[in-house]
Amino acid sequence: MKKLLLFTLSIIVFGSAFAQKKGIINNSESPNVKFKSIDIGDCTWTEGFWADKFKVCEETMVPYMGELLCGDIGHALNNFKIAAGLKEGEHKGMKWQDGDFYKWMEAEMYVYAQNKDKKILADLDKYIDIIGKAQQPDGYLQTQVTLNGWERNGNRQYHEMYNSGHLYTSACIHNRITGKTNFLDIAIKHADNLYDTFMVDDLSDNLKRFGFNQTQIMGLVELYRTTKDEKYLKLAELFINLRGQSKVEPSKVAGYKFIGDMVQERTPLRKEKSAEGHAVLALYFYAGAADVAAETGEKALVDALDRLWDNVVEKKMYITGACGQTHHGVSSHVDMVHEGFINEYMMPNLTAYNETCANICNSMFSYRMLGIHGESKYADIMELVLFNSALSGISIEGKDYFYANPLRVCNHAHDNPDAATEFDQRIPYVECFCCPPNLVRTIAKVSGWAYSLTDNGVAVNLYGGNKLTSNLLDGSKIQLSQVTKYPWEGAVKITVGKCKKDAFQLRLRIPDWANGSKLLVNGKDAGVDVKAGTYAVVDRQWKKGDEILLDMPMEAKLMEGNPLIEEVRNQVAIKRGPVVYCAESTDLPKETGILDVFLPFKSELKAEYKPNFLGGVSTISADVKLRKVDENEMYSEVKNVVWETYKTQFVPYFAWSNRGQSEMTVWMPILWE
Ligand SMILES: [Zn+2]
Repeated sequence: MKKLLLFTLSIIVFGSAFAQKKGIINNSESPNVKFKSIDIGDCTWTEGFWADKFKVCEETMVPYMGELLCGDIGHALNNFKIAAGLKEGEHKGMKWQDGDFYKWMEAEMYVYAQNKDKKILADLDKYIDIIGKAQQPDGYLQTQVTLNGWERNGNRQYHEMYNSGHLYTSACIHNRITGKTNFLDIAIKHADNLYDTFMVDDLSDNLKRFGFNQTQIMGLVELYRTTKDEKYLKLAELFINLRGQSKVEPSKVAGYKFIGDMVQERTPLRKEKSAEGHAVLALYFYAGAADVAAETGEKALVDALDRLWDNVVEKKMYITGACGQTHHGVSSHVDMVHEGFINEYMMPNLTAYNETCANICNSMFSYRMLGIHGESKYADIMELVLFNSALSGISIEGKDYFYANPLRVCNHAHDNPDAATEFDQRIPYVECFCCPPNLVRTIAKVSGWAYSLTDNGVAVNLYGGNKLTSNLLDGSKIQLSQVTKYPWEGAVKITVGKCKKDAFQLRLRIPDWANGSKLLVNGKDAGVDVKAGTYAVVDRQWKKGDEILLDMPMEAKLMEGNPLIEEVRNQVAIKRGPVVYCAESTDLPKETGILDVFLPFKSELKAEYKPNFLGGVSTISADVKLRKVDENEMYSEVKNVVWETYKTQFVPYFAWSNRGQSEMTVWMPILWE
């Protein structure tokens, strides 16, 4: 008995001593989390899709973005230098330029975690030094406010919350990866100032309704996890609790465009039934609330987040994982919304907004829900977003960006009055620069999402050639290596390296599309349930050299929408594995518009891997039917129906607009016979 007690005690002690505390989110000690993060750097891409993307990220995306943000175009570092008294000038760029700089720094940190390039570390120290000098003596740090002489916390649209959140997150990641505290100290001083401002009995009406683009909730929870100081968790919770408590009306500091559902203040989060408002604001808010729930375990909060996740995924999300159906519209409660969610099943293609950030936030929210519930459906969405509506935001070369990610682009469709963020080909700098660094930091960190640590084992969330060297939650070593040509092929081979002698579980995600997958261990059927949309759990004593082979059928499929989505009635999209395809006018005869393309139901879809095309992708070839459609009249009589058959290729949606100006569509009208 005594022995057993000692044994149990040692597990408890070692369990906490060995838990991985340097994850992208450090949920190692979060009491309500089933899937815990591996440490940043535990998983490295070796070859294949993500290794290639990471290489472009390391060699082009991050350095190129650094030139923009540290130079005069982005002006972000200049803003800090001017605020620090190191340079003459004025604030330039968006009110959220500080936050976007912190995000780019975070991307640099993830790259450093993989390549240990000392120059990155030295550069980061230089920036941190400047940022520290720009910080006010009481901890406040917002260059847009200080340099413009605005009143602190005077207007929610100054984006102070957003900048704060990205500062906290970036500083925590810096501390985890480097062990240094120079950035963390700035963040702590800053958060203490935020705490003193908001955690008061007589909070003003303006501050009660202050939350706007609330990344500070995620940032504060991470700061709590880093410092163990509960005040940051309490403050994070306050920002959730304040929503929906005040009368919603326009005020001097909140115009009618930025109130109510638009900023998730119409309904308290715990009572909310549908995703409302600005899609980035909403999904950052939900992601932050999921971080709080991971700590508090509050049922009402988890229930609300379950409802909201279901509502997004089942009724408001595009087939690419994208969110935010419109640039301008109304919410369910008839508040004006901007770049946001509208009615369920209302899914326009041409005018879809789908900001890259919103799509990424969808995957960040899902990663947190994966932690809480440990169900594969959350990783399915992370993957769907990554391969489609996230990667679509950046060119193959890594220097040109999309802000909005509609599912159809047609040059003559309509004149867009808001072309500042909606453009029909990628551009090298977006004035509103929130999306590019968000995407680049995501590409840089995705190896940290690939695995999770579970009760007695490890879960494989994402597939790609990689090596994992980590510790299970009991402290024992675990090494896995993965070899695969995923997502172009469905075979994944995982070889066990170092591991403990006792039995433990390997969980392999069987994606929701992968019906008929097979799982072998050392050449024999694994003898476990291999069901699409679940984790297949292999619980056994593993030894070095054991081989797991997962074979997912990778055929091209035609997809259709729920009949309630009027915008895609009698249209289909092509999907192969997790990758959604599109037709691009570049692959059509000259003078053919994208609206002329129809897909016969019986067309044979043939996949072919092309290593030197668009960075190495599988294309799908098929016969389409072309029919000139009159674009001039609003309505016209059907006459002279002439079909031309044409063999074309479909390219992955994320890779469109890499071959010059073109038109594109994901959904195509289908010819059933
Ligand atoms: Zn954005």
